[in-house]
Amino acid sequence: MKASEVMADLRSRFPAEPEYLQAVEEVLNSIEDVYNEYPEFERWNLVERLCLPDRILSFRVSWVDDQGRVRNNMGYRIQHSNAIGPYKGGIRFHASVNQSILKFLAFEQTFKNALTTLAMGGAKGGSDFSPRGKSDMEIMRFCQAFIAELWRQLGPDTDVPAGDIGVGAREVGYMFGMYKKMAREFSGTFTGKGLDFGGSLIRPEATGYGNVYFLQQMLATRGIDIKGKRVAISGSGNVATYTAQKLLQLGAKVVTMSDSGGTIYVPDGLTDEQLDYIFELKNLYRGRISEFADRYPCEYHPGKRPWQLASFDIAMPSATQNELDGDDARALLQGGCFAVSEGANMPSTPEAVKAFIDARILYAPGKAANAGGVSVSGLEMAQNAQKLTWTAQEVDDYLRRIMADIHAQCERYGRVDSSYINYVKGANTAGFMKVARAMMAQGIL
Ligand code: NDP
Repeated sequence: MKASEVMADLRSRFPAEPEYLQAVEEVLNSIEDVYNEYPEFERWNLVERLCLPDRILSFRVSWVDDQGRVRNNMGYRIQHSNAIGPYKGGIRFHASVNQSILKFLAFEQTFKNALTTLAMGGAKGGSDFSPRGKSDMEIMRFCQAFIAELWRQLGPDTDVPAGDIGVGAREVGYMFGMYKKMAREFSGTFTGKGLDFGGSLIRPEATGYGNVYFLQQMLATRGIDIKGKRVAISGSGNVATYTAQKLLQLGAKVVTMSDSGGTIYVPDGLTDEQLDYIFELKNLYRGRISEFADRYPCEYHPGKRPWQLASFDIAMPSATQNELDGDDARALLQGGCFAVSEGANMPSTPEAVKAFIDARILYAPGKAANAGGVSVSGLEMAQNAQKLTWTAQEVDDYLRRIMADIHAQCERYGRVDSSYINYVKGANTAGFMKVARAMMAQGIL
């Protein structure tokens, strides 16, 4: 297999899907060598089968807004691979959602889920519906209409969705409720559910906490203590806020947070009280990060992302894809940044990734660093199947072990020399080998 030839073919077949092509190219470039060690992969055309999703579902979602107007959105579910377990991956509600973005996310999810050591295939879904500014009743009606169409494709051993951008506990609750009614079953078909109906302790925290645990593993390879380090975070949603919470617990300084409107810069680091306010602002009032600067006077940079505002030790992009470009990466490196651990999926552009790898800093791609969320989703599925609830301590201990295990897999396949691990190569190769072996064993499907 030559990665460039596969990419040329995919580009001609899917010219309007830049995010999907970007994600596939990154993986193919890093697995080319190992793939070519197994001639049987080529005979079974494994790489092409792995790049193309098993199934793409797209549908119209019609719902009625508070003014009585009929509104129409597009809904999607990309079932990418169930080679190692049921389809599993979040649902995203955001105006920017399209088939290319969900195909890239489902592709990434397949490798990420393989890294977790749990039995989960890869999927992703969503809609171009934007929850921003919608009432609770509108959100509920939309979630119900979305699931009225999708429920037949889901099930605890078939396809298990969860949250993502724009989909938190409220939306998962409404979707689960509708699924339960249509399917006439109470099962673990969604993860990220409320604690009163099958949710797992530590699931809301898991992606952010897991990212910090992964960062600690990386820092340990260079004997660096996280205490006192200046960390730039982007976003102020689920992943960003729980990343900040864990960093504060460990004595690091969280100096930036953002949303799509702009970035706050707090040079001395957020206090616990200030972070509590951000949780309240985002979860209760669904407000904007600019309101933080009204309450606690600090620098607010409208329309700006964090990366070029000051110098930082560590960057943890936790908002969305392609939010950190080549110029941002060069500014971070010039400011002395020595670690980047991605909470979001594919937040760094290919140029930024190359800059981090060339500089041999500690750089963890999202599919390794943010796998804590889906890992605890896997633990939620296990608890639902057992009809048991584990304690927060049990789940957190499990999460730490899984993140350490993912780090070990990255090291196994990505160690370049005694002082450098290429985490991109390590994560892609480890994830690929597991899925590839399963596909070979199951025949051509
Ligand atoms: P949330 O919806 O809770 O938060 C998203 C945050 O990112 C918000 O602050 C939002 O700002 C900001 N944001 C979204 N889109 C843009 C944009 N185009 N430009 C600038 N800012 C933007 O989502 P999550 O925290 O759940 O997800 C964040 C990232 O983490 C995503 O890439 C997701 O795929 C990834 N992820 C999430 C997991 C989870 O468990 N939730 C698991 C693994 C990965 P605003 O409110 O202004 O839109």
